[in-house]
Amino acid sequence: MKVTPKRLKASFARMKRMGQLTILKLGGSAITDKARECTPDIPAIQRIADQLRDYNLPLILIHGGGSYAHPFVTRSGIDRGLRGRSQLRSIAETEFYLSQLTRIICASLLLRNKLPVPFHPMSFVAFDKGNVKRVLLDPIRKALRAGLLPLLHGDLVFDESRGIGVLSGDRIASLIGLGLGASRVLLGCDVDGVYSENPKTFPNAVLIPEVTSENFRLALSASRGASDDATGGMGEKVTQALRLAKNGCECYIFNLKEKKALPRLLERDGITGTRFVPWKNSRKSSKQSRRRA
Ligand code: ADP
Repeated sequence: MKVTPKRLKASFARMKRMGQLTILKLGGSAITDKARECTPDIPAIQRIADQLRDYNLPLILIHGGGSYAHPFVTRSGIDRGLRGRSQLRSIAETEFYLSQLTRIICASLLLRNKLPVPFHPMSFVAFDKGNVKRVLLDPIRKALRAGLLPLLHGDLVFDESRGIGVLSGDRIASLIGLGLGASRVLLGCDVDGVYSENPKTFPNAVLIPEVTSENFRLALSASRGASDDATGGMGEKVTQALRLAKNGCECYIFNLKEKKALPRLLERDGITGTRFVPWKNSRKSSKQSRRRA
């Protein structure tokens, strides 16, 4: 293809827009009833879709599994690898129910003229010993450039050594965020951010508004408590948010159930939740990852 000034200008405009890429994770705690298997919070999903209706900058959505995945994963032990044929049914069931939640979210978005296309990480990520071995981002990049709304989710992925593993929604958010050079990653859940202790069991816990390269240990130790989740709860969120911040990407952990929080973050209208400030000296790696996008 011949490079003309017009094409060059269009390509710069696309690159600039990609530099404004936001990744939004819809936490399972905010869009499902975690106490009841396979129960969506339809009003919450519809409200989020309403809030996204007029957002026109590049966006990738990721949803957590919530009660559509955790019960099947923890009951069968597939989060600790594949040890017998009896677990295969749980893999099939988890994929079946996860895709139902994906379809509910897709329907809410389509009804508002947003154009989601689902990507299932099981088909484009491979693990070895729980570490990401391979990932294919090109189709997501192409969907984004075409003006579609990629919709991913936390998923089971095949692992060369362990048979199967769990790729949390938070981890895929940081993987995609860094791989595509996102400018920020928003991790929505059912609490206002990272607290000094779990606010559900310690009502006097205080919110940590900002996590920097100076105070990050505080956030790590505050969130490291036991979790019933197959994906590590708040500890995993903080780990992934720090991975992003260290590489120059701004990240927020915020309350997706709080009606005004998402619009405020989308419109960059003030700070809400816990903000993970990009670390100094991380600009270089951020630019490198943007170039990759
Ligand atoms: P999601 O399913 O949306 O990804 P999780 O349930 O995994 O969210 O994590 C959110 C939960 O983490 C909250 O409901 C809260 O009870 C728990 N939590 C544990 N420790 C903390 C902490 N230090 N600060 C905030 N929340 C915490």
